[in-house]
Amino acid sequence: MKRRTKIIATIGPACSDSTTLKSMIEAGMDVARLNLSHGDVEDHITRLHQLREIADAVGRPLGVMADLPGPKVRLGMFEEPLMLSINDEILLEPGEGPSKPDRFMVGYESLLSDVHTGDRLAIGDGTIVLDVVEHLDSALKARVMFGGTVQGRPGLHIPSDRLKLTTPTADDLRLLDAMVENDVDMIALSFVRSAHDVRRVGLEPTPRGPLVVAKIETRAAVENLDGIITESGAIMVARGDLGTECSIEDLPHLQKKIISRCIALGRPAITATQMLESMITAPAPTRAEASDVANAVFDGTSAVMLSAETAIGQDPAHVVATMARIALHADQEFNYDHWGKDLQREHLVERQGTDSAVTDTMTMATWQAAREINAKAIVCISRSGFTVRAIARFRPEAPILGFSPEERTIRQLTMSWGATPIKIDRIDDNVTTVHKVLELAKSLGHLRTGDVVAVLGGSSATIGATDTLRMVRCP
Ligand code: PGA
Ligand code: MN
Repeated sequence: MKRRTKIIATIGPACSDSTTLKSMIEAGMDVARLNLSHGDVEDHITRLHQLREIADAVGRPLGVMADLPGPKVRLGMFEEPLMLSINDEILLEPGEGPSKPDRFMVGYESLLSDVHTGDRLAIGDGTIVLDVVEHLDSALKARVMFGGTVQGRPGLHIPSDRLKLTTPTADDLRLLDAMVENDVDMIALSFVRSAHDVRRVGLEPTPRGPLVVAKIETRAAVENLDGIITESGAIMVARGDLGTECSIEDLPHLQKKIISRCIALGRPAITATQMLESMITAPAPTRAEASDVANAVFDGTSAVMLSAETAIGQDPAHVVATMARIALHADQEFNYDHWGKDLQREHLVERQGTDSAVTDTMTMATWQAAREINAKAIVCISRSGFTVRAIARFRPEAPILGFSPEERTIRQLTMSWGATPIKIDRIDDNVTTVHKVLELAKSLGHLRTGDVVAVLGGSSATIGATDTLRMVRCP
């Protein structure tokens, strides 16, 4: 069986050489994530082209996702690592420049007016927690509640409802332009709070524009979930910051809820952060991590993501291979049966104002027909990939073969649950195209003569709509 759950890996210093990137693709990386919070944009663009070349050489489609920093507040540079212990008191001062052991500089101008006494702040990945205990004239006094070591330029997490900054920031839009000019496939938006934030990105619809991935990591985003999903191309359960914004005991349930809303609305859902964290330094994951990856699959996630594990870890390709093994085995144990039934009353919504009733009905019929006849595959001919994503929401047991003449669609489908994206040169009339894609699927080893498949496509090459379902026995 082919893996249904996709793997996203973050590129960083541990994997910027071609040999490592190639082994990561061979180990199962479907999407490479460029984290624009670190490094400069020129390097990311170089990496983007390098990744494209390697993927071409390997002969596997690879999506590239650029992750915009959003309004991330950072502390001034620590010249050397500093150990913080419980009940230590420190001052937080707005401004640039290096931090001192008892006075941290905070890169956020309106710190003193926006943050209140009693607010809880977190440093870095959220393990160090500070409570604001007093407002002084030029600084906030904070007490360490959970200690740890700070180093470099760590992020400072301020509760998002306190922040005046909204996403995308002016800096994000500048980075976005550079990445779009270089043909990036997906753009992730950090600290989204509303559907309006997503609209402000103002990109062309897919596949001309990149797929917009809204990261759910603020409380406001959880409250505006359906609106954000509808406005986005995909969603990330960004557990790092979400776990700081919400109570930690809420996190597993939020993960399930966000994924299930994405499935209902036909958008890929990514589960991210600390999935195989211990493998930054260890050769094998903890038991809890292995279970976390498998459970995300059981929740219905479309993709699982690696962050520091591959960006700065000791063996990026080995981490990808480990994740691929766990995900594949979970796919084999996956309960494919109930998803479509749960969806019966849900309707697919494209972006605001677009009518997707035809796709909605046709994908439902395809799912049912494929089940009845125990089809070997669901073959989908789609220009934009929207129909493939719409079929994926039923989480069908039959593999989904997604054919498209658009390079960009092929690369965007690398993130879709269960989809094997395959490039064709053009879409002709239905009879010709179906014949061509079945021959191609056979030559690639996906199908054999005699296999019964459900084929979903358009009746004519000119009208865009997916309006034709055929049950075909492979010639
Ligand atoms: P980040 O996003 O790694 O860019 O912070 C993911 C998360 O918050 O989990
Ligand atoms: Mn985050």
